[in-house]
Amino acid sequence: MSLNLIAHPSVFCAALLSLVSFAVSADSHETSAAKASTVLITGANRGLGLEFARQYAADGWQVIGTARSPERADELNALDVEVLQLDVTNQASVDALAGALANRPLDMLINNAGIFPRVRKLEEVSIDDYLRTLDVNTAGPMRVTMALISNLRAGAGKKIINITSGLGSIAGNTRGTYYGYRESKAALNMFTRTLAAELGPEGFIALAIHPGWVATDMGGPNANLQPPESVSAMRRVIDRLRAEDNGTYKSYQGEPVDW
Ligand code: NAP
Repeated sequence: MSLNLIAHPSVFCAALLSLVSFAVSADSHETSAAKASTVLITGANRGLGLEFARQYAADGWQVIGTARSPERADELNALDVEVLQLDVTNQASVDALAGALANRPLDMLINNAGIFPRVRKLEEVSIDDYLRTLDVNTAGPMRVTMALISNLRAGAGKKIINITSGLGSIAGNTRGTYYGYRESKAALNMFTRTLAAELGPEGFIALAIHPGWVATDMGGPNANLQPPESVSAMRRVIDRLRAEDNGTYKSYQGEPVDW
């Protein structure tokens, strides 16, 4: 090798160049490793999504918060976060988000956007509303995860967090009510398990987490938790996730929930 280098200056130069480029790439790797982690949160303009954005931004994360109408997302725009448009039911909107984020690594995706139509009895079900609930709460996270999977693969964090509900537990459903919502979250839970099985070998952790009953527009004023409490508890759980937590269903306190 050394003989070759002395004998052929061009080989020597090439070796020198590759050494330099190795040093530069090692250095840029260090720089990117030192950079803040990036999280994308859907439905970040109000409720739990807004609180996630607030807390992760305050903690030094790079936060991408999405909103259906960014121009009206005043509280989100007031934070130190990047705000992008996203309607999780609109494929063109999902594709535009993916286009805007092309080649950008994401460490974590929080599929938070959701709706909760309060349909208590069979006679109250409108099939259009039922399908709409599945579209937002189940197909929405699927669309977004599919669109951003290459960004997540490029990120170091490899976490996909699906905000589910205790109402999605089949085992826990002893009193009925909430047609559509329950099914949408049970299906989201199954999506989480399937993702976990497929992506676990790549180092991903997919989690279904129940935020508790929280006083947002969805939870209403009588809820027993405020968004800061629920979100800081969920962040603790998320922060401590290990490989063995891949494909689990947990409460905001980190306890397992029966499927
Ligand atoms: P929220 O206050 O009603 O906020 C819902 C968020 O989802 C809003 O940002 C809303 O945007 C967004 N959203 C709705 N449809 C959307 C769509 N098609 N595309 C994109 N974004 C959409 O509800 P929350 O209490 O924060 O709930 C957040 C998550 O926690 C939901 O998945 C919910 O099911 C779950 N959860 C909440 C509770 C609770 O007690 N609060 C309990 C269990 C589970 P707009 O402002 O544009 O409508």
